Amino acid sequence: MSKAWLFVILFLLMKNQNHFEFTLAEYQEIIDFPIFLIAIINADGTFYKVNKVANPILGWEPEEVLGKPMHEFVHPDDFDETLALMTGLFLGSRGMVLDFRNRCFRKDGTYRWISWSVKAKGGKLYAMGADVTDEIEFQQELINQSIILENISEGVVIYDKNEVIVYANRAEENMFGYDHGELLGKSIKIISHPQSRDANLSLEETRKNISKTGVWEGEWQNLHKDGWTIYTSFRLSLLSLAGVDHFVCVHRNISERIAVEENFKRLSERLSHSVKVGKIGIWEWVPGSDTIVWDETTEEIYGFKKGTFPGTREAYNACLHPLEREKLWVTVENLLKKKESYVIDHRIITPDGRVRWVQGSGMALYDEHDKPYLMMGTCHDITERKQDVEDQIFLGKISDVLAASLDYKDTLSNMALASVDHFCDGCFIDQLNVDGKIERLVAIHPDAECKEILLNTKYKDESRYDGRHPLVTTLISGKTVLYRDMREYLPDQKDLLDKLNFKSVVISRLKGRESLLGTVTFFNLKDSGKNFDQRIIRLADELAYRASMALENSLLYHASQDAVRTRDQFLSIASHELKTPLTSLSLQNQIKRKQLQKKDANGFEKEAIGKMLDTDYRQLVRINRLIDDMLDISRIRGGKLYIQKEDIAFQRFLADVIDRFRPQMESLGCELTLGRCDEVQIKADSYRIEQVLVNMLTNAMKYGAGRPVKIQTQLSPGKLRVLVHDKGPGIAEEDVERIFHRFERAVRSSEVSGLGLGLYISREIMEQHNGSLTVISKLGEGSTFIMEIPL
Ligand code: ADP
Repeated sequence: MSKAWLFVILFLLMKNQNHFEFTLAEYQEIIDFPIFLIAIINADGTFYKVNKVANPILGWEPEEVLGKPMHEFVHPDDFDETLALMTGLFLGSRGMVLDFRNRCFRKDGTYRWISWSVKAKGGKLYAMGADVTDEIEFQQELINQSIILENISEGVVIYDKNEVIVYANRAEENMFGYDHGELLGKSIKIISHPQSRDANLSLEETRKNISKTGVWEGEWQNLHKDGWTIYTSFRLSLLSLAGVDHFVCVHRNISERIAVEENFKRLSERLSHSVKVGKIGIWEWVPGSDTIVWDETTEEIYGFKKGTFPGTREAYNACLHPLEREKLWVTVENLLKKKESYVIDHRIITPDGRVRWVQGSGMALYDEHDKPYLMMGTCHDITERKQDVEDQIFLGKISDVLAASLDYKDTLSNMALASVDHFCDGCFIDQLNVDGKIERLVAIHPDAECKEILLNTKYKDESRYDGRHPLVTTLISGKTVLYRDMREYLPDQKDLLDKLNFKSVVISRLKGRESLLGTVTFFNLKDSGKNFDQRIIRLADELAYRASMALENSLLYHASQDAVRTRDQFLSIASHELKTPLTSLSLQNQIKRKQLQKKDANGFEKEAIGKMLDTDYRQLVRINRLIDDMLDISRIRGGKLYIQKEDIAFQRFLADVIDRFRPQMESLGCELTLGRCDEVQIKADSYRIEQVLVNMLTNAMKYGAGRPVKIQTQLSPGKLRVLVHDKGPGIAEEDVERIFHRFERAVRSSEVSGLGLGLYISREIMEQHNGSLTVISKLGEGSTFIMEIPL
C-alpha cells in the first residue's frame, strides 16, 4: 500500500467538506485508518503517542508502547542506522522529511518491515509508517531465486497477473536481445510473436493450460528485439511469490534446431519429390527369402497398379524379359559374393505385355558374420532413353536410305518400310503436285488388300479446300498431329477405317525450302503392340524433315535434268529452225552462182530475180523472227522487256496488221475475216501488241492450215478483247495451260516447226500491259485465243 493512498483519502474528505477544517473526532478517524502506523517520539527516543494501527500491524496496543524506548521495538540489525537517522533529524534542518525502512518487532516475536517517513518538530519526531514486509520479502525471494536463475542457460521470465515482467534472467535478456534490466516493467507481449497463437493467449486461457498438469509445455514463436523470429520451447507454471501468483516461463532457444529440422524437412521433401519426379522406384529383398518388397513407384514402373504386385520371387521373375532373367540373377549373386553394388540395364515385360527398359541398381547390407541380411536398390524406367538412342540409330539409317538414290519414289518407299520395322504398322505418303493435285506415292499395310485400298484411295478434289481433311490441315499448319480417335481423324469414313483396322495415326507435313511437297502418314493397327505417343510425334517430325529434304533434292535434280533436256531439245530445234531458211538461202545462192557460170540469162530475168528476192526475204524474216524471239526470252528472264505505251486507234491499227498479214494467209489458202470492229482508243506498245497479234495469226495459220480464221473484237467496260478463232486441231485439256510456258509445245516438231516461245512471250507482253492472253479449245474443234487489253 502506498502512501499516495492516504493523500487520496484526505483529498476526498477535504472535497466533501469543502473546507480544510477537521474536527478532532475527524482527525482521530483519519489517524486510526488501519493502514498507516503513526507515532510521535520524544527526543529521548521513547514513544510519546502511537495510533491504534500499532495493533493490526505489530500486535501491540498503543498503551503497551507509550513511554517505552523505541529501540525495544527495532530489530537489532537496523537499530544503529535508525538511531543515526533520527539523531540526524533532530540536529538537521527543520521541516525535513526522511524516508527509511527498518524492521520492527511484533508482539508475537516476529518482525515486520516498516517504511517510515519521519520529520522532526518542536523536540519531537513525527513518524508515519507503512507495512512493506510483503514487498520486501517478495524482492528478497526474487533475489534469492535469481542467484540460481542468473546462472542457468535457459531463459527465465517472471510476470505478474497484469502481464508485467518482474524478473528476467540474463539468459532471457540475451536470448531476446535486451540489455540488463531492460525487460523489467515491460509487458510480456514484448517478446511474443504477433503471429504465435499460443503466445498471445489470454491469461485465463494460459491459466487453464497450466492447470491441467501444473506446467504448460510447448513450442512457440517469440520476437527478438530486432524484430526477427526466435523459436523457443517453453515451460510455463505458476509461482506464488510473497503470496501472490506469478507466471514463470522458462524459455529455451530452439531456433537452430527448428532451422535444422526445417532444412531436413525441406531436404527430405526434395528427395521424395525428386524420387517421385524422377520416377525412381525403391525395392528391398532379404537374400534367400521369397519376399520382395516394392514401393509404389516400382510397381508403377513394372506396370502394376498400386498394391497389386504379389511380392514373390516368382512374380518378379515373371516380370523379367526371358533373355535378361538369368543375367540379372547372376549379377545379384556376384554382388552378394563380392560385396559390390551393381547397376544394370535390363528389359521387363509389363502385365499388359509391353516391353520396357529398366535401369536397376542394388546393394546389400551385411551382419557381423559378413552375411547379407538385406538387399535394397532402386529402379528407373529408361525406356525413353533407350528408345532415343534407338531412334537416333534409326534416323541415321533413314538418312542413308534417303541418300541412296535420287529416285524419290524408291527412297520414300524404303523409308516407309524402315519405319514399319521401327515404330509403326504401316505408312502412306502423298505428294502435292504443282497443279495442286495430291498423288499417293507409297502405301504400306501388312494386309495386301488394305494396301491396295490405300494405294488407290484418291484424295477428292472437292474436299480439298474444305480445310477439315487432316491432309489439308497438316499441309496448312505444318504441325505433326497424332489422332488417337479415328472419329476425329476421318469422321465420315468409319467403314473405310474399320476395314483398314487403324488404331492411331500420325501425320506430318513434307515441305521444301519454298514449297509444300505433301504429307507422310504413319499408322498402327488395333491389335498391335506399338503405341503412338509424344515420342512418335517427334520421330515423325524428324522423318518428315529428312524425307522433305530428300524429296526436294530429288525434285530439283529431276527439274534440272528436265531443264537440261529441254535446253538440248531447244538447241537442236533452234538450230534446225535456223538451218531451214539458211539452207534455202544458200541453195538459192548456189543456183544463181551456177546460172552465172553457165551464163544462163533466164535465171536473171526480172521475174525470176523478183521471185528469188521474195523467197529470200521470207527466209530472212523467218530468221529475224527466230532471233527476235530468242532475244525476247533473254529480255524477259532479265526483266528487261520494256513497254512503251502510246495512244493507238485500235480499229485502224488492227486493219493495218491484218492487211499486212493477209497475203501470207491467203497464199496458204486461209480465208481471213474480221468481224465488226468499232473504233476505240487504247494505250499500249504498238510494236509489242502487233507482235502478239501476229503470233496469234501465225499460229492460226500454222496449226489450222487451209481453214478459215476469224477475228472478232469485243468491247466491255474497261477492257477490249480480241478473239482469234481457228478451225485447227484444237488443244488437249491437259496442254491448255502448259503451252504458255517456255519451250512448251503440244505438237512434235516433226509435225509443225516451232520453238514453243511465241505464246510465252505473248502472255508476258499482255501481262506487262495488265492484260491477259488465254485460250479456249477442245481437241478436234479448233481454238480461240483471246487477248484482253485494259482500256
Ligand atoms: P510454236 O508455235 O513455235 O510451237 P507457240 O508458243 O506459239 O510456239 O505455241 C506453243 C504451242 O501451242 C504450239 O507448239 C502448239 O502445240 C500450240 N498451239 C499454239 N497455237 C495453236 C493453235 N492455234 N492451234 C493448235 N495448237 C496451237
